[in-house]
Amino acid sequence: MIQVHNFCAGPCLLPDEVYKGAAEAVLDFNGSGLSLLSISHRSKEFMAVLEEAQQLALSLLGLEGKGYSALFLQGGASMEFLRVPYNLMKSKAGYINTGNWSSKAMAQATAFGEVSVLASSEDRNYSYIPQQINIPSGLDYVHYTSNNTIYGTQWQDIPQADCPIVCDMSSDIYSRVYDCEQIDLIYAGAQKNIGPAGLSVVLVRDSIFGKTGRSIPQMMDYAEHIDKGSLYHTANVFGIYTCLLNLRWLRNLGGVQAIEKINNQKAATLYSAIDELDYVVGLADVEYRSKMNVTFDFKEERMKEIFDTLCKEASILNIKGHRVAGGYRASLYNALKQQSVDALVEVLHAMKTKI
Ligand code: PMP
Repeated sequence: MIQVHNFCAGPCLLPDEVYKGAAEAVLDFNGSGLSLLSISHRSKEFMAVLEEAQQLALSLLGLEGKGYSALFLQGGASMEFLRVPYNLMKSKAGYINTGNWSSKAMAQATAFGEVSVLASSEDRNYSYIPQQINIPSGLDYVHYTSNNTIYGTQWQDIPQADCPIVCDMSSDIYSRVYDCEQIDLIYAGAQKNIGPAGLSVVLVRDSIFGKTGRSIPQMMDYAEHIDKGSLYHTANVFGIYTCLLNLRWLRNLGGVQAIEKINNQKAATLYSAIDELDYVVGLADVEYRSKMNVTFDFKEERMKEIFDTLCKEASILNIKGHRVAGGYRASLYNALKQQSVDALVEVLHAMKTKI
């Protein structure tokens, strides 16, 4: 449908059939004669959408029937930076700082108690994931960011601790096989591998709440949202339906096992070009490279102009690095096709003849 190569870090591209299904539903939702934009969030039609979306959100990560709830909330992942300590911090939580988003999550938590920075990769511009982290006992929870959207690093394992584990999975959720049952609360802004912007998805083990002694305003209270089934207030009807279409797309493809193979192939194609071409440099340490956000730069300033021109000619869009990191970033989320990565690699190779 859309003939450009969109490497945007978020809101990012979604599969063509999701665009099509969402567009059709805006005009006529399931043959009802009503627009998706104009149905009640409490109608039986939307309740069925919400239930299926919640079920798929859990089952695709192997969490169905394991004591977890799936919430579709508003406010984006940044709201969860705040909701997490509101609901879980009694006196002290541990945070692992692997980038800008981890730092922002930490900053929100300081209002609720002591934040212990268990490890940080700030010393080398967040180009790696800290290893052998010593996590003391007695923390209220440990928070980490599984994929660092800006700096292009990704965790392979999961921190181990004797307290709940909380993971900001905004930029690699549903992209790979990962033992999510080891995590007690997963949250993600929807606008990468889940759906359109304007939502966050929270997958949480119900038993972890009610331990802080704090009174929590209802909008901030996960237990309240669980109790009301994500319908404490008007739900983001369009957003949730579009998420459902995307989750169905992933299920029909074969789930995270299938998409992981595709994602591995895309990342391998791009990283091989980065490693092969002596004028390109990868910005993350090889062993911690992200398969979702590939960060790179050029050895010489003048090459950037050549690259930018070639990208424009090849309809390659949104490849600039985040403003705090500079360089370039190609985001290879689930819906990005191999042919887009091939087009980018072709441009990188074509630079040889221009320099
Ligand atoms: N965490 C991570 C890892 C992110 O990549 C982002 C956004 N790119 C956020 C949190 C913030 O998400 P939101 O804009 O939905 O608040």
